[in-house]
Amino acid sequence: MSEVTVNTEWLSDCSGCHIAIVDLHEKILNVLQAVKIQRCPVLTDIKGYPHATVGLVSGAIRNEHDRHAAIEMRKCCDIVIAWGSCAVFGGPAGAGNIHTPVEIGRAVYLENKTTTSAAPPSREVSPLESLVSPLDSVIDVDLYLPGCPPHPAFVFEALSALVEGRQPEVNRRSVCAKCKRKMEKTDVSEIKTNSEGFPNADQCFLSQGYSCMGSVTIDRCLAPCPANGVPCTGCAGATMQILTEPNRDIRTEIAERMSRLTKIKREVIVGALERASKSHYSYTMATSMIGNKPTFHIKKWIEDENADYEAGGAA
Ligand code: SF4
Ligand code: SF4
Ligand code: SF4
Repeated sequence: MSEVTVNTEWLSDCSGCHIAIVDLHEKILNVLQAVKIQRCPVLTDIKGYPHATVGLVSGAIRNEHDRHAAIEMRKCCDIVIAWGSCAVFGGPAGAGNIHTPVEIGRAVYLENKTTTSAAPPSREVSPLESLVSPLDSVIDVDLYLPGCPPHPAFVFEALSALVEGRQPEVNRRSVCAKCKRKMEKTDVSEIKTNSEGFPNADQCFLSQGYSCMGSVTIDRCLAPCPANGVPCTGCAGATMQILTEPNRDIRTEIAERMSRLTKIKREVIVGALERASKSHYSYTMATSMIGNKPTFHIKKWIEDENADYEAGGAA
């Protein structure tokens, strides 16, 4: 392949995916020798959209600006990569789909207990669309690179493959494949919240009653969280099995595994996961691949949980 030119663009996101390029460290020199980064919001001040071989687009579609920028990137780039869980699935911003833009504006600008600002966004700010959507709801995408952000190894592999003119290596494994914790049967009889107790460092979190999402999450990170004492929260998005098989779902799959490993009943685990669904589905809630499953009830589960919380008089 002749010189590969790269444009990047960020839509509604936290900029973490762009920072992942910096995390390539010295490997970025190999990439830079082979590619010319000509448009990159964190590095360059180009407002237009020059023609490029590859377009890396991070972030979800949340407002008019995102939609416009996505369409411009599609027009000017031969290959478009949805880069990071926000672009692929809607990402954490997708949890905003539980609320209307008016509710969000009110909570953030008018009723925010931690700031004194009472000014809603001015008309110069691009208005929110009614729902958060993944990139491919607006433009055609050629390659998906989920992760929050994707581990630099996967970014490097994707860019190297494009430079070398080959298909990138595809890894369909779950986070469990890289996790060293052991799944074993226990007498644990109660599900725990992730902030409860002191988990054993060698045993699978599911064996201990913690709802780790590693088994339903695609590995785009090399499993850093369970290696450092924290259950996986599914930030890279669901595995292909969950996405493509109609009867498989995040909460039922986790419940199935945890109930086989512990003495906790499957229905109890399903109920606990439903009550915490705003967390468990936050990264993928905006994609129809998840939204079209039985999880279309997510909004109801969250409303029920909020009602229980209010009824309990929690501060
Ligand atoms: S995928 Fe994660 S790191 Fe990347 S922009 Fe979205 S929230 Fe940030
Ligand atoms: S469920 Fe979590 S703790 Fe258990 S093996 Fe998978 S990633 Fe590791
Ligand atoms: S282990 Fe899970 S939460 Fe942690 S980075 Fe990987 S996918 Fe994200």
